[in-house]
Amino acid sequence: MTTIHISEGAQIDLGAVGTLVKQGKTIISAEDSEIIELVMKTIQEGKTATFYLKTMVCNEITRRYWTPERVETVGLQPIPTEQVSRIKSDFNIEIDGYANNMDCPRCGNHYSTYEFIEQGMKEHGEETVRAVFSLKDVGLLQVHPMQNSVCPRCGLYLARVRGGYTYDYRCSQNNAYACCK
Ligand SMILES: [Zn+2]
Repeated sequence: MTTIHISEGAQIDLGAVGTLVKQGKTIISAEDSEIIELVMKTIQEGKTATFYLKTMVCNEITRRYWTPERVETVGLQPIPTEQVSRIKSDFNIEIDGYANNMDCPRCGNHYSTYEFIEQGMKEHGEETVRAVFSLKDVGLLQVHPMQNSVCPRCGLYLARVRGGYTYDYRCSQNNAYACCK
């Protein structure tokens, strides 16, 4: 089950709500501060969930979550400019922000944002991935995601690599795509 969160204050599009509920989703409407508390609690309790948030709410959560200590432990680093350009030219996705880098323990191949997007396209299709990264004014937050990174060169799944793959992306449509775990 996926829960869709709508903050109080905005005019609620009941037609859209009806469509989502019929698809089996749950929608919660509350003050931004309540939503932030709810998401922080979900992170602390180790539960898996996907939140579709106002970008400013998502940014506030990632600001609280990414303490300097945590950034250092996980090895979160800015996406290199060269990789940003390569993602734009190869995938037509505009992305910026931070991610960690993993090296495949078997073949040594590098895994980061480029490989993450490439894998997503293989698994979900190019259009789906592009749509996620261009979801205007939405902060998509994956809490304890069950995504399984796979080495693009030798096919080894990288779930056993310490810390796993972590990202905190900002995209060009006032949107964000991040994970907390
Ligand atoms: Zn490998």
